[in-house]
Amino acid sequence: MGSWPLPAEGTHHAALERRFTGIETARVLVIDDEPLILSTLSAFLELEGYGEVSCFECGTAALEHFAQHGADVILCDYLMPGLDGVEVLARARELDPRVPRILLTGYADKEAAIRAINEAGLFQYLEKPWSNDDLQLALRNALERHRLLSCIGSKAAELNIANARIEDLQRAVLRAFL
Ligand SMILES: [Mg+2]
Repeated sequence: MGSWPLPAEGTHHAALERRFTGIETARVLVIDDEPLILSTLSAFLELEGYGEVSCFECGTAALEHFAQHGADVILCDYLMPGLDGVEVLARARELDPRVPRILLTGYADKEAAIRAINEAGLFQYLEKPWSNDDLQLALRNALERHRLLSCIGSKAAELNIANARIEDLQRAVLRAFL
C-alpha cells in the first residue's frame, strides 16, 4: 500500500468498490459442463458477494433461464457437449445484446476465442486456469459496462420524452400564433 489513506484492513474500501460496481445486486449466469469447475466458480463468486449466481452444466438450460429471468453478466465455458460456448453466447446476444458475455477457454482454444469475438460479440475471454484477480476484473468491467449501457438507455428514453414535450409545445405555440 502507498501513502494513500486507505481505511485499516481495507474492509470499507472493499465495501465501497462493491457498491460502485453493483456487485451485491449483480446476477451472474455461469455455464460449464464440469461440475467441479462450476462449484469452484460459484463458491468464489458467492464469497466475493455477487448478488445472485445461477449455475448450469448445459447451454440449453442456461439459455432458457436467461430468456426468462435475464442476467447482468454471462460467464461461459467453451468446450461443452451439445452447444459450445460460442453458440451459447451468440444466442444470448440475440436474446439481449446489452448483457456482457465472457468466454472461458482452454490454453489451446485461442481460435475459438477469436471466433467468439467475431460471432458472439464477446466482451472478454479468460484462459483456463484463470486467476481469481483476472476473473474479478473481467466481471467488474463487464458489470460497469452493463450499468453504463443501461444508464445511457434510460437517459435516451428521458430525452425522447423531453423532445416529444418540446414538439408538443412548439405545435401549441404555432397554433396560438398562426
Ligand atoms: Mg468444458
